[in-house]
Amino acid sequence: PVVLGIESSCDETGVGLVRHGRLLGQALASSMDEHARFGGVVPEIAARAHLHALTPVVRRALDEAGLRLSDVGAVAVTTGPGLAGALQVGLAGAKALAYSLGVPLHGVHHLAGHVAADTLEHGPLPDPCVVLIVSGGHTSLLLVRDLARDPIVHLGDTLDDAAGECFDKVARAFGLPYPGGPAIDRAARAGDPRAVPLPRPLPGSYDFSFSGLKTAAARWAEAHAGRALPVADGAASLQEAVADVLTRKAVAACRAHGVATLVVVGGVAANSRVRALAEERCQAAGITLRVPPLRLCTDNGAMIAAVGDLLVRAGAAPAPLDVSIDPSAPLEYAALHPVAAP
Ligand code: ATP
Ligand code: MG
Ligand code: FE
Repeated sequence: PVVLGIESSCDETGVGLVRHGRLLGQALASSMDEHARFGGVVPEIAARAHLHALTPVVRRALDEAGLRLSDVGAVAVTTGPGLAGALQVGLAGAKALAYSLGVPLHGVHHLAGHVAADTLEHGPLPDPCVVLIVSGGHTSLLLVRDLARDPIVHLGDTLDDAAGECFDKVARAFGLPYPGGPAIDRAARAGDPRAVPLPRPLPGSYDFSFSGLKTAAARWAEAHAGRALPVADGAASLQEAVADVLTRKAVAACRAHGVATLVVVGGVAANSRVRALAEERCQAAGITLRVPPLRLCTDNGAMIAAVGDLLVRAGAAPAPLDVSIDPSAPLEYAALHPVAAP
């Protein structure tokens, strides 16, 4: 069946259509511009924007796929983690669609969506694989087996800030526009990655810490008060430190667990230096690297449909129509109702 996926956990309203591992069409609306002047996502504005965007985005995704609503055989939706109001809008829309079409509803963990995004480009994930999730709110190193069935093993997590948060906050300290990650990436092109000595926290652990790095970069910027800030050098140095820490630990985890494939997903996987260094280090270690294309790295509906498609094909039980959001859902399983739930 065709699975329609809805993502609304933050500032992106995404809808995707997937059938048997294949992306048929997707559409996206973003309220990013409305948040820019506040320097971060405003939850109430995001929720309202989802409400306005959802129906037209569903329509656009169907048009792109050349499908009609009556072709949809299942609905998948992000139930968490994310902003409560934003999640509520997506879930209410998904329930209405599933109920009116008489098709099953599946609740999906947002981060499992980030993982599954890669399957739309590179096919089924090998079992096992190591996954590095690097996004705006999360940084985790995972051992993933069958997404539809197996529990997800956390090898390491950030103890404080997420990698994306680090980029966003340092960008602010550097006077770069929101969102900071892409701005740092662009500014770094003209910079020297060795210009600013920055720490590489928690060596030898699979856990991450980015708050010290953030503070060190901000202090360096403050020390230039009244003088021109060499933003390109600061951006290149920060990007190098983050990419170094992320890729070193991810490759070490693959080696330690005898895993042949590393998958890097989430918004920060769009970073050019993270991608290049991961490629370099995986090649040296004989590890296959998989990174989704840029448009599938940041939030989108296709990735939620991809998890739904895996669930449907594995025979997962649908979610009841009174299922709730969980704004702080821990990543234990990809779905609210995995196939072999205990
Ligand atoms: P989460 O998935 O943890 O709930 P999120 O959905 O907000 O958080 P994503 O949409 O996956 O996160 O990613 C957004 C993050 O990715 C932001 O922090 C943004 O700055 C960062 N990002 C996007 N592009 C780049 C880039 N080229 N370099 C570095 N960071 C980037
Ligand atoms: Mg976003
Ligand atoms: Fe995300």
